[in-house]
Amino acid sequence: MTINAAQLSDTRPRVLIVDDSPDVHRLLGVRLKSEQLDLEHAESGEAAVDRIREHAPDLVLLDLDMPGMDGFEVLRCIKDDSETVHLPVIVLSGLQSSQDKVTAFDLGAVDYITKPFDLTELRVRVRSALRLHGLLQMLSQRAQLDGLTGLWNRAYFDQRWTEEVAACQRHARPLSLAIIDADHFKSINDTYGHPAGDQVLVGIGQILRRALRQSDVPCRYGGEEFVVIMPETTPEEACVVCERVRQTLEDVQWERHPERTVTCSIGLCGSTGATDTPADVWLQTADELLYQAKQGGRNRVAVREIESSGARLAKAS
Ligand code: GH3
Ligand code: MG
Ligand code: MG
Repeated sequence: MTINAAQLSDTRPRVLIVDDSPDVHRLLGVRLKSEQLDLEHAESGEAAVDRIREHAPDLVLLDLDMPGMDGFEVLRCIKDDSETVHLPVIVLSGLQSSQDKVTAFDLGAVDYITKPFDLTELRVRVRSALRLHGLLQMLSQRAQLDGLTGLWNRAYFDQRWTEEVAACQRHARPLSLAIIDADHFKSINDTYGHPAGDQVLVGIGQILRRALRQSDVPCRYGGEEFVVIMPETTPEEACVVCERVRQTLEDVQWERHPERTVTCSIGLCGSTGATDTPADVWLQTADELLYQAKQGGRNRVAVREIESSGARLAKAS
């Protein structure tokens, strides 16, 4: 499940009303005014689907009986698309039959309100659907975050890395991957205690967040190892970033042990364009480079370009 940061922040929830009757839009506009919602409007199923694909709202209020694409079809489209499958939909319908209700719930609606609706009831149901959706989003995000550093965790990395390598292959875009490992970290723990070690890991997380672009993906890979996915970034550009991370960490004076600096070694590989190198080979390469950086004396970046599609093909023939 992809997390939309705006959905977790303090911004007003966006609610899309889908109904072919302008009266319903007007009525809901007036009656939901006090609810701190940003209301959006679509007067047909087709318009709703376009709008949702462009920018998914936080909740959809959906009429079933509409000319052209009806509400059931809209619901099917929302639930068939992995990007919107978790979007909550409340059906607002004049259809009273229990079969229609069963179908709507089977298709994934979270609630069903029959017209003419009681506006107080509608308001509490909207609130309840948004609250539940917010909690599910939060749980889902927590499951993807590392508890100590607040960076993405290994599970998230594994999924995201596969996606980024596929995107790089499809669009021949630059991509870089760095593995960062704290040097002699065991001795920090042994000398100053585990909490001091934890403090260093938190510090590395902060340095990564500050040094990286918004589009980069810093993750805790495990223990004192971190990985950073840098989409749209050539190895040359990524090397500048990694050097900055390395230097910043070296310059930190630690509260618990001001006399002892902490350094890191970094294995970095990247591609400037088309490559068919599989995701696991990228990781293996970055890991080998990390090993080289350690062997070379630590506190350094070892970098190599990933073979282009042409180079791999030439080798194979
Ligand atoms: P190198 O320079 O070769 O990487 O040496 P190193 O000591 O950093 O590597 P090693 O793999 O021997 O030790 C890693 C240490 O990281 C051992 C483990 O106790 C510690 N560690 C792993 N996870 C955590 C954690 O969450 N908190 C703390 N404080 N220490 C951790
Ligand atoms: Mg280490
Ligand atoms: Mg290690």
